[in-house]
Amino acid sequence: MLENKNQSSTSLSDLGEFKLIEHLTRQTKIYHQNTIKGVGDDCAVLENDKLQTLVTTDLLIEGVHFDLGYMPLKHLGYKAVMVNLSDIYAMNGVAKQITVSLALSNRFTLEALEELYAGIHLACKNYQVDLVGGDTTSSTKGMLISITAIGEVDKKDVVYRSGAKPKDLLVVTGDLGGAYLGLQILEREKQVFQVNPNAQPELENYTYLVERQLKPEARKDIIELLKKLEVKPTSMIDISDGLSSEILHLCKQSNVGCNLYEDKIPMDQQVISTCEEFNMDSTTVVLSGGEDYELLFTILQEDYPKIKGNPNLTVIGHMTDEDQGKNLITRANQKIELIAQGWNAI
Ligand code: ADP
Ligand code: MG
Repeated sequence: MLENKNQSSTSLSDLGEFKLIEHLTRQTKIYHQNTIKGVGDDCAVLENDKLQTLVTTDLLIEGVHFDLGYMPLKHLGYKAVMVNLSDIYAMNGVAKQITVSLALSNRFTLEALEELYAGIHLACKNYQVDLVGGDTTSSTKGMLISITAIGEVDKKDVVYRSGAKPKDLLVVTGDLGGAYLGLQILEREKQVFQVNPNAQPELENYTYLVERQLKPEARKDIIELLKKLEVKPTSMIDISDGLSSEILHLCKQSNVGCNLYEDKIPMDQQVISTCEEFNMDSTTVVLSGGEDYELLFTILQEDYPKIKGNPNLTVIGHMTDEDQGKNLITRANQKIELIAQGWNAI
């Protein structure tokens, strides 16, 4: 399994809270002029011009949202930031700052937390966000991480879940299903490892899937691409749960129905071959599996020529009048009702 190669171990109780915070944040870089004050006072101070401020927060709990048995701490730090930035991009905004709050049991060493912060700092660098604060406390069991992301958006650019209209095209970025299958692979390897600790993990055929689970990337690039293409989505959401539940959110908040075409859903070849190997239905995996952190949005039909042929963007359906319902059109051209866990077999 993925082991911690760092041999030294400094206990947190030797260090104390303030030294720990200082140690973890001493390499923190500030990328934005509007970050007036970061870590080190009672509050961070951010300058807000005429733009609207976006705020989002997520709480991750060990054993519920992550398993350190196969999630290296550096990846956990990176992913915890991605999960939040993805929500800022889903509003068509630019992420600027984050805060990181931790609750830690005494089983974690300073070296372990350095790994976690290496991932957090890397995410901050890659996505140009400033770490401006947080909180550090103890927990009786395991680790909790709460990250808050702060972003900006021009009033005219903000995109809600509620703006979709009938006939708008439904578009998804990247490909889907990988992160869920990656989790299944890692769970399987963990069980093999528990039975036989000498077993070597067999991950070669699943590298893309494991990477999708352990190192997701929030789609900042898509927000920049859409700006360049001069396409403003009419509604948008990020795909943290399965595709079907995200589509249903857009439909509900926009008061529209939809037709989703099964044969249009983008999947990587590794998703298809792994589903075959495990005897799973790939459409079920995509509709119900989560954590892909792609963006799902709707655009006006007249904007279609602007996105046509872009390998990052796939039209998977269109919105309809609400009374037409929310439907999956199967490869066999059957219309089936979409439900949050996938679809309702008739
Ligand atoms: P307070 O007593 O006001 O809560 P703290 O001593 O907890 O202040 O925090 C001191 C400074 O360190 C603050 O700027 C806070 O935002 C920051 N900070 C605390 N914990 C973390 C952390 N885990 N990561 C980053 N910054 C942190
Ligand atoms: Mg505090």
